[in-house]
Amino acid sequence: MKTLKGVPVSSGITIGKVQIIARPKLKIRRKNIRQEQIETELQKFEKCLQAAINEIDQLISLSENIDNRNILNTHKMILRDPEFHKNINKMVAEDLLSLEMAIKNHFSSIIEIFNNIENEYFSQRSSDFEDVAYRLLSKILDKKNDKFAELQDDVILVTENITPSEVTRVFQKKIKALCTEKGSKNSHSSIIARSMNLPTLVSITGLTDNIKNGDDVIVDANEGVLIIKPDESTMHRFRPLWEYEKQERIKLAQLVDEDCITQDGRTINLMSNIEIPAELDQVLKIRSKGIGLFRTEFLFMGHKGLPDEDEQYEIYLHIAEKLYPHPVVIRTIDVGGDKLSQILNIEHELNPNLGTRGIRISLKHIPVFKTQIRAILRANRKGNIRIMFPMISTVGEIINIKNIVQQSRGELLEEGYEFEPDIAIGAMIEIPSAAITSDSIAEECNFLSIGTNDLVQYTLAVDRDNDTVEQYYIPHHPSVLRLIKMTAENCHQHGIKVAICGEMASEKKYIPLLVGLGIDEFSVSPGRLLMVKNEIRKCKYQDVRKMAEDILHYKTYIDVYTRITAKEC
Ligand code: PEP
Ligand code: MG
Repeated sequence: MKTLKGVPVSSGITIGKVQIIARPKLKIRRKNIRQEQIETELQKFEKCLQAAINEIDQLISLSENIDNRNILNTHKMILRDPEFHKNINKMVAEDLLSLEMAIKNHFSSIIEIFNNIENEYFSQRSSDFEDVAYRLLSKILDKKNDKFAELQDDVILVTENITPSEVTRVFQKKIKALCTEKGSKNSHSSIIARSMNLPTLVSITGLTDNIKNGDDVIVDANEGVLIIKPDESTMHRFRPLWEYEKQERIKLAQLVDEDCITQDGRTINLMSNIEIPAELDQVLKIRSKGIGLFRTEFLFMGHKGLPDEDEQYEIYLHIAEKLYPHPVVIRTIDVGGDKLSQILNIEHELNPNLGTRGIRISLKHIPVFKTQIRAILRANRKGNIRIMFPMISTVGEIINIKNIVQQSRGELLEEGYEFEPDIAIGAMIEIPSAAITSDSIAEECNFLSIGTNDLVQYTLAVDRDNDTVEQYYIPHHPSVLRLIKMTAENCHQHGIKVAICGEMASEKKYIPLLVGLGIDEFSVSPGRLLMVKNEIRKCKYQDVRKMAEDILHYKTYIDVYTRITAKEC
């Protein structure tokens, strides 16, 4: 028996047999060419390039998943990039490198640049370039490029890495879990895997060296461990947990058509958070009553350059139509100063979380911001889109933004576009200054949504991504609870709804407390939505309101913790 640690991407426990899928290694044998071979090499380049593009086009036409199509379109753009063509021509014609060597060099240097950017999102985008390079090189070296053709049903898939374009395909088979040696939590592949709600572990060091085809394994994606060839006592320990999880999933699946309502009749709107449109399938499957947070920065990050108005419009429209008549809350880009720095030419900042982040980037780059606002407005054809702004710290920003929205609306109407001009405007409350002045912000908005991931970070001065200060990251700290309460009260006083869209909303122990604090809408990851619905349905509003009132008087977070974990509603 051997236990390996990995990064959990999607929770759950499963037991089963492993199927390892390895991508055939592409060996570059020829490094150099002679002068007289230049022309043949360049002709081969054109031919293989076209074959790779045709293959991608075919995959696009077969794919029903809009995000998969977007990713594949990005891959096509990479192949059509004039800089890429120029570089290959130069390496072949001037440096006399073989075509395969030139392509390998070109992509290796891009992948290295992406890997070295001290920003997780960007470093993860290197997998898109790996994907493209592999597709093209397999054409040039005449190798088949379908590593998952042999994948069977009901196995635990083990692979070194998985590219975004492969993930959706893999999940169409009935695999039990996914384990990869590489990868990270926020890659496109991981995000799609999470939305599919199957146990997934990535970044498992030593995985491929320690496992064989057909091995029995336990995947515990709750704790982030993979147990290879478990002994009988370990099996004995995990079997009941596995059975319990299976039963829970079956039970939760029965809740899809049930209302999200407390025992004493208070309806809570329960919606989904999505990062990329690929998650839409899962959102529809669980019959989510809307999207409470669409983090649009992911569209920008997977993209080479900025997506234009039409590209954005198509994506927003597709989502709005699929969800109609339920609402779709589109949040304008929210990234740290670092994250779009390449595209927007932003200087590196020493303290990006306190720097040019979220709305500050948008207000600094008005043309980019306006493009996004125009695309969102145009997509609001049936009136079910709401627009939300991240990292608001003062009401002045909202007033400023509303003028930009108003101006964009006027321009679009003049240009003859047809859409529902009356769009609901919301602010994220994720900075203490916004929570404290949420009365003024509520006056200017149609809804507010509390982003607890950042609210906790900024209230407690604790970096949400820094493991070494994890013990200070306490969502149930009395200060955070008071800010949530204050925001909810201010919203209600102004007759608008208050939502919550941070991870706190999908943690079992916090759900009754949040209902008790007066939250009207929860927006959570689709994989957790049914669990949240189940917990809300167990609550009695009168009781949890009383509990929340008591808790607001507690002085220490330890007291809060003791109460919320001792007594479930
Ligand atoms: C939040 O801060 O809680 C939130 C939902 O936004 P993000 O996690 O995208 O910063
Ligand atoms: Mg946030």
